[in-house]
Amino acid sequence: MASTKKTTAAKVQAPIDNRETFVSLQKSFADSDMPVEEKLKTLYQLQAADSEIDKIIQLRGELPAEVAALEEEIADLKERSAAISAVIDQLNRNIADAKLAIAEHESIIEKYQRQLETISNSREYDSLNKEIENQELLRQIGEKTINDTRMEISSKKSELEDLKDRLSIRTEDLAAKKTELENIVEETAKEEAVLRERREECAAKIDARTMSAYERIRASVHNRLAVVGIYNGDSCGGCFNTITPQRRVEIVSNKKLIICEHCGRIIINPDFAQ
Ligand SMILES: [Zn+2]
Repeated sequence: MASTKKTTAAKVQAPIDNRETFVSLQKSFADSDMPVEEKLKTLYQLQAADSEIDKIIQLRGELPAEVAALEEEIADLKERSAAISAVIDQLNRNIADAKLAIAEHESIIEKYQRQLETISNSREYDSLNKEIENQELLRQIGEKTINDTRMEISSKKSELEDLKDRLSIRTEDLAAKKTELENIVEETAKEEAVLRERREECAAKIDARTMSAYERIRASVHNRLAVVGIYNGDSCGGCFNTITPQRRVEIVSNKKLIICEHCGRIIINPDFAQ
């Protein structure tokens, strides 16, 4: 999970670290038509809805990135395939050129050999023979070039095959990921709408000061939990620091808003979770 990768700062800066602010927050929290206990429960439900929304966004959040990475890889494979195909085309043209040159050497050799039959002068005879030898050498070089080029083409073709195999696998992966993403968006769209509605209902019941504190705490903690329960009977469910028995009694009595003195999160009665 992306959110847990972040390293927690040694001391989370408490959004409400000032005693006066904290006291006035407690006051404005209590100063409401709604009983404190119900308001605390509403805060718990608000956090629960927000956590579910976070999960949905996180679930989607990784898929679009995976789809984009696959699309990029596929584009790269296609580009490399096209480049290799172009090289193969060029090599085939080189072979065709070499074949033409060989035919040219052969026709010259043939022509000189016919001339040899009519020549009586030995100096001219030697010179023609020398020329035939040269043309024969050029013809052999041409043959070697063709053989080397054919080997090069064969190695390029196997490289191209590998790329095409990878391309076909990646194309299938992309189709699967896209379907998965579409399904998740489709499946979770309704769920998300319900959760957002529930969230708004809760938020409407909570006073502006508390809501603003809630948002600030959520934004400042790595796990996006502003409202936590009691962990293991005696610790803050957010930072796991020990809660004094006195504070624990205050929390379970549901009579006021309690903020963790270590991490600044709102600690509520764990019974609300049931
Ligand atoms: Zn804490």
